[in-house]
Amino acid sequence: MKTFEVIIIGRGVTGLSTAFHLAKSGIKKICLIAPPPTHADCSSLNAGYASITLHDNISRPVHGQGSETTRRLLDVNRAGFSGLLQFVQDQAINHSVGRVMRLASTPQEATEMRSAVQWLFKNGFPASLSVMGTHCKQHDGAAAASIDIFSVLTRLEAQSMAQVVNDTAQSIRCGKDGVTVTTAGGEKVHAEMVVAACHRGIKNLIPEIAPALVNHADQWMEFNIIEGNLPMARGDLTFAEHSHFWMTHTYRGTLVAGGARFLRPWAGLEAEESSILKLVTSTVKQKVEDLFNITLSDPTQTVGAIDIRACDEIPIIGPMYGDSRILLASGFMGSGLTLGYASGLGLSEFIQFGQSKLIPKVFHPTRLRSLTETD
Ligand SMILES: Cc1cc2nc3c(=O)[nH]c(=O)nc-3n(C[C@H](O)[C@H](O)[C@H](O)COP(=O)(O)OP(=O)(O)OC[C@H]3O[C@@H](n4cnc5c(N)ncnc54)[C@H](O)[C@@H]3O)c2cc1C
Repeated sequence: MKTFEVIIIGRGVTGLSTAFHLAKSGIKKICLIAPPPTHADCSSLNAGYASITLHDNISRPVHGQGSETTRRLLDVNRAGFSGLLQFVQDQAINHSVGRVMRLASTPQEATEMRSAVQWLFKNGFPASLSVMGTHCKQHDGAAAASIDIFSVLTRLEAQSMAQVVNDTAQSIRCGKDGVTVTTAGGEKVHAEMVVAACHRGIKNLIPEIAPALVNHADQWMEFNIIEGNLPMARGDLTFAEHSHFWMTHTYRGTLVAGGARFLRPWAGLEAEESSILKLVTSTVKQKVEDLFNITLSDPTQTVGAIDIRACDEIPIIGPMYGDSRILLASGFMGSGLTLGYASGLGLSEFIQFGQSKLIPKVFHPTRLRSLTETD
């Protein structure tokens, strides 16, 4: 049986960022278990935007989680954004840096924006509001980016120098002498610790946590601009109508847009596959054309994928209750490029020091213990 210091299951942004940060800190005996990238995983299918802020406007997490947790969520996301951007710049990967903007279409949303900006300001995050007649715009500081994410994944994997087992992990067994992972092909790999960074695969590998993880389906489309001027620079990210719609001007010069999840049955919750809905495509296209008075091409690309959120809408990052030699990270609420990258840094701290300065306790899986255990 092959023996390593750490086994990482999954080669999306979370697993690869963990491998990269471990290698950087001198841990070199890393085994990466995952099937070859088949464009079935979320990191290869996402829309390539990274943002210093969260997908939902700040009033939503503040209302649901309270100020302290929201501040911590923003801090972790911000660390992920700056780390990812640094990596992209160091590696000369294609990207454009822009700004985040939210557009209000109703007086109610303008009121929400006012309180969001006040909260952001009070908590040390730069934000501003501009009101023009009946329109209202919120700027969440100057930080979003459109990134060639495929190159990010390839370079992270190359830099980690991990030994790759191209297979699916089927079980994790913890014993006195460490952790053994068995693959679908029957190979056994042994290490001191294991990181489950396998997104939906976590549900099968660690069934105790499965009830707390909720699948949801999403899709995005890429368009060319046929007529009119898009009032967004490359790298800019815009949200509209309470983040039900989002759009990014890519580093390639195209427009990528998505949202309208409310058009899916049960908003796509507990979906097992993400079917491409024509109604979503046409609604998003129409919304962007109306907002900016432009004409878009038919979509040049349409992508659907399943994402995961925790039932309490806080990411799950840290040691599994019951056995702290199993670490996991998932549930990034649409901000997976930044939170996934930050998780890699945080999980590498857990592995080296037994704790993480970056990841606060409120994100640890242990908070879900009472939800996932049955009598
Ligand atoms: C349509 C859509 C668009 C999105 N766009 C954005 C965006 O633009 N910006 C953003 O920040 N976030 C976006 N997100 C969210 C983001 O993509 C995800 O949160 C993030 O990619 C998750 O990364 P991950 O590494 O945790 O999981 P994944 O990227 O899904 O990686 C999981 C890995 O685990 C492997 N695996 C699974 N099961 C097993 C197993 N049993 N054994 C071994 N390996 C296994 C898979 O093959 C894969 O390698 C989007 C999500 C969706 C659904």
